[in-house]
Amino acid sequence: MKRSFMLPILSGLVALSAMGWGQKGHDTTAFIAENHLTPAAKAAVEEILDGKSIVYYANWADNACHTEPYAYTKTWHYKNIDEGEKYSEVKDIKEGSVVSALYDQIAILNDTTATKEQKWLALVLTVHFLGDIHQPMHMGRLSDKGGNRHNIKYFNSGTNLHSVWDSRLPESAHKWSYTEWQQNIDRATPEEIDLIVVGGTPYSWGEETYEIAKKVYENTPEGTNVAFDYIADWTPVIETQFLRGGLRLADVLNEAFDSEYQAKNGIKKCAAQKK
Ligand SMILES: [Zn+2]
Ligand SMILES: [Zn+2]
Repeated sequence: MKRSFMLPILSGLVALSAMGWGQKGHDTTAFIAENHLTPAAKAAVEEILDGKSIVYYANWADNACHTEPYAYTKTWHYKNIDEGEKYSEVKDIKEGSVVSALYDQIAILNDTTATKEQKWLALVLTVHFLGDIHQPMHMGRLSDKGGNRHNIKYFNSGTNLHSVWDSRLPESAHKWSYTEWQQNIDRATPEEIDLIVVGGTPYSWGEETYEIAKKVYENTPEGTNVAFDYIADWTPVIETQFLRGGLRLADVLNEAFDSEYQAKNGIKKCAAQKK
């Protein structure tokens, strides 16, 4: 009796674990963003979410894509680039990738004719995908399904590279809640923040993550036993990726919902282009 009850639950968890940063990564990304929203953007976001926070919905998309009404969003969490392929030459699949989905959802956030329902969905998807596009294995190889078929060990127990990067590595890097993650990594200076956010696009974010993915593959051949040294080596990268995702998410939302921010940002972008 117990067994037949447990199995579907376990297989459900396995399916979910392949869908993005784990809960910790998405919550941290969203909470960092929330701390960088301007008052106008925060008010607009909470109006769309009926008073809830972006953290509340940070992982919604991972559950929704397993339900029939949102099955079409399944491929929007990642983009695969095979070994030997060039990032610039790999087209998005027709169902859409994390890169094309971010362009589309951000466009809806900026569309003044979009309904509240359309903005709600675009917002919760943008919050989630800004996290996923910074997870190196979401820009992994097609041949191994983004590391899902790249078998490694985690402290001697069998697993795969994707799953380690989604959750085991972040959870091992620091035993922090998402608020503690934010308190400890969200410490960039205004100049450092500008370097991270000004002029970026879903295309460039994806390319940057893909470059990290290449290094992860080099550093983690099949059969690697991930242990303390691996965790120590990659912890700074996890921290950087959470921070980049959070700051860029805030920038996207401030741009969409705060006209003053938009004007100031436009000036910064022009200055950056002239350099
Ligand atoms: Zn996801
Ligand atoms: Zn994943």
